Amino acid sequence: MGDASAVTQPYLTLFRNVPAADFELCRVCHSRPSERHAGNGPYEVCASCARTTGGVFRHTPHVVPISLCARRGGGTQLYDLVARHRVPASPPGGPDRSTFLAATLARFHRAHRACLTRAAGGEFTLVTTVPGTRVDRPVEAFHPMPRVVGMVGDLTGLHRPVLLPGDSESALARLARRESDERAFHVIGGVGGARVLLVDDLFVSGARTQSAAAALFRAGAAAVVALVVARLVDPASSATSARLWARASAERFDFERCCLCGPAAGILGRPA
Ligand SMILES: [Zn+2]
Ligand SMILES: [Zn+2]
Repeated sequence: MGDASAVTQPYLTLFRNVPAADFELCRVCHSRPSERHAGNGPYEVCASCARTTGGVFRHTPHVVPISLCARRGGGTQLYDLVARHRVPASPPGGPDRSTFLAATLARFHRAHRACLTRAAGGEFTLVTTVPGTRVDRPVEAFHPMPRVVGMVGDLTGLHRPVLLPGDSESALARLARRESDERAFHVIGGVGGARVLLVDDLFVSGARTQSAAAALFRAGAAAVVALVVARLVDPASSATSARLWARASAERFDFERCCLCGPAAGILGRPA
């Protein structure tokens, strides 16, 4: 990987900052309104994470999206790139998709290695990616993430493709309904005691991520932290989502902050 900052710098407008957990935001995915229940404190989870973390025997509470993205309206370029496999529109002669994603991961990981390591409870011993399962993404295409991770110098040394798509039709059907099921993935090779950085390009419902995390835990992993390039949000789904997206779109993206170390209080414009 060349200079990740130089590759990504012309494309900062594609990214949207992900706020830290907040009294209104999901503490797992940091990007949707939490569903609060009477008597519970802050730091609840969103409806989507409630469903996908509740469906498995153990989930990861650590999902770290690098950026938010949206499917409609302004700011869809990152979604187009990640989900529709389009290359960045400008400037001409810019990086191809894999180079862009690798540079994005490299730059973010360099800035937030300590944040991710803290969440894992110690240094990572394994980096792996979530394989394609033909569900939970709008276009099935060659899944490039193993190659992308292989291009990131700081990750490639620990990279092992230990997850394979499972052969349970019912589990894959559950994934298609955005429900999690650890049988959607097989784990090959020993992962006992491993602290795993689980890398994926797009986080939609969390069903893929949480199913993969559960499969890793079932196989003996000690910790799983999910690092995803883009978290899809729907600004039209609620007033809180609209405020979150408007706020993220109005400010300049900063690779030096993440949802684990960035500002939390008042992110949605209310007093802390
Ligand atoms: Zn969530
Ligand atoms: Zn950080």
